[in-house]
Amino acid sequence: MKFATKAIHVGQEPDPATGSVTVPVYLTSTFYQPQPGRASKFVYSRSGNPTRAALERSLAALEGGRYGLAFSSGMAATTTVLMLLRKGDHVVACDDSYGGVYRLFEQVLREYGLQFSYVDARNVENVEKAVRKNTRMLWMETPTNPLMKLVDIRAVATVARKAGAVLVVDNTFMSPFFQNPLQFGADIVVHSTTKYLGGHSDLIGGAAVTSNAKLFERLKFLQNAVGAVPGPLDCWLVLRGVKTLALRMERHDQNARLVSDFLAKQPNVEHVYYPGLPDHPQKSVVKRQMRGFGGMVSFEMKGGSAKCEKFLKRLKVFTVAESLGGVESLIEHPASMTHASVPRETRLKRGISDGLIRVSVGVEDGSDLVEDLEQSFNAL
Ligand code: PLP
Repeated sequence: MKFATKAIHVGQEPDPATGSVTVPVYLTSTFYQPQPGRASKFVYSRSGNPTRAALERSLAALEGGRYGLAFSSGMAATTTVLMLLRKGDHVVACDDSYGGVYRLFEQVLREYGLQFSYVDARNVENVEKAVRKNTRMLWMETPTNPLMKLVDIRAVATVARKAGAVLVVDNTFMSPFFQNPLQFGADIVVHSTTKYLGGHSDLIGGAAVTSNAKLFERLKFLQNAVGAVPGPLDCWLVLRGVKTLALRMERHDQNARLVSDFLAKQPNVEHVYYPGLPDHPQKSVVKRQMRGFGGMVSFEMKGGSAKCEKFLKRLKVFTVAESLGGVESLIEHPASMTHASVPRETRLKRGISDGLIRVSVGVEDGSDLVEDLEQSFNAL
């Protein structure tokens, strides 16, 4: 079955009880036990719920994995995956991950005795050099948020195997439509389903997918023990989003190409970060593991924060807001918004300057998006 067909049908067969074509929203916290104490399929909705089970099957199928797990947010998925580790374990992470992930690692999990090193993972040798005796996990995002650095998943998977560590890839930016990290040797794929999978900026959710039965058993245990699960209505919203993922991703990609081409010609723009641009330095990685470029574009505005603020204020179609992956185009200033939790010095060292702007290109008519950007540039 091809991707677009799977997205509509896997986990979403007509309801056997009523024939309902869409998966019902099972708004229940608990389930009747005709044989007291004898486990039936569902017992209590923290441990499992039929609407969530449908979503988990769907997500596993889309990532080409055997097991899917849904969480109440991308951060809940991330936290639960990190709970696979024990006090004293070391993680090598890419140095340009989502600011909230960095905050979780540095301000929460360090307190619990986990150790973290951050490397520019574009060069696999940096990852290899950072591995220690106690390295148990490699945490990668590709493309990274917001600088669109790419990580060669297959190369990093080889390092993980050698180290006896688990490779986790956050695949939020590409969505399973454009990239499937398990196919290249990742052990676990993580998503913020808040983004492309949900696709309509109307929910917060997360997911983890694996084909490793042992990792799944432990994650399933942790999902229930920790309890960061999504409600049935949110699961249903993600399922509805997933049905149009293929259509939306094609349009996001098409519009982002238009927007990045336009930005690359602007005199006020110093640099554009988009894997689809001809001057992207990692073309071979793009070719190997990505089926498209996606809808995320970042660019460096000449003139820093003040210029960015003026530019953002004049936009009419783009909405200034955090988050990404919805049908509507969003635009943000990482230094003061998504990455404000990263200390300034660290942020600048990682290349997230005060003039950086990140765009989540939506599925509107592409010419309206370019026109909106143009009118705002013209007023600078
Ligand atoms: N991973 C990436 C790449 C993200 O961009 C985000 C949020 O922006 C997250 C994880 C966290 O997801 P959530 O906001 O659903 O907790």
